[in-house]
Amino acid sequence: MKKIKTLRSVFAANDQVAYELRKELKGKGITFINIMGSPGSGKTSLIERTMDELKDKKFAIIEGDIETSIDAEKLQKKGVEIYQINTGPFGGDCHLEAAWIRTAIGEMNLEGVDFLLVENIGNLVCPAEFDTGAHINVVVLSVTEGEDKPLKYPLMFRRSQILVISKTDLLPYLDVSLENIVRNARKINKDILVFPLSVKTGEGVEKWKNYIKNL
Ligand code: MG
Ligand code: ZN
Repeated sequence: MKKIKTLRSVFAANDQVAYELRKELKGKGITFINIMGSPGSGKTSLIERTMDELKDKKFAIIEGDIETSIDAEKLQKKGVEIYQINTGPFGGDCHLEAAWIRTAIGEMNLEGVDFLLVENIGNLVCPAEFDTGAHINVVVLSVTEGEDKPLKYPLMFRRSQILVISKTDLLPYLDVSLENIVRNARKINKDILVFPLSVKTGEGVEKWKNYIKNL
């Protein structure tokens, strides 16, 4: 019982911070997009490509990783305001909480920023349990992960408004159908918006770019 109570209060406190963060950023005209997905699903590549496509927009990035700043270093080359959160020193948490995002943005220069992109820690489970304060939750699922992931990790697909199906250039080599992935995702969340794309070939990128641009 005690454990359940503690967990509840953790979620309640997080939700309050998330609520305030969402309101604050909206007031500043910043759209906060939380990007979730498994390790290797293509989150960092999607962020890179999105910034390349929308050169007239200003981005700020928060990178969540248990260890290392490999992704942040890669993105820093784009000359963007970037903040690394490593959870390793604090027990290796496998998700980001709203309070950590708040701390990060308190130390960032968000002057004139249009989009705050947060790359959450790679996994399909607990990032979905914690509201980060984002206006939009995106799950990136690579075609290599198979068709059944929405059914196996339903909360992630329920909490996300957008599903990016990445690495579609690999479809010819896999026994996976795009339609089945979409069908399974819509079994969990009938309203989820789906963007199949390949950062490598550029297939589907235009549609994604236009959607983000018009947010
Ligand atoms: Mg990454
Ligand atoms: Zn976690």
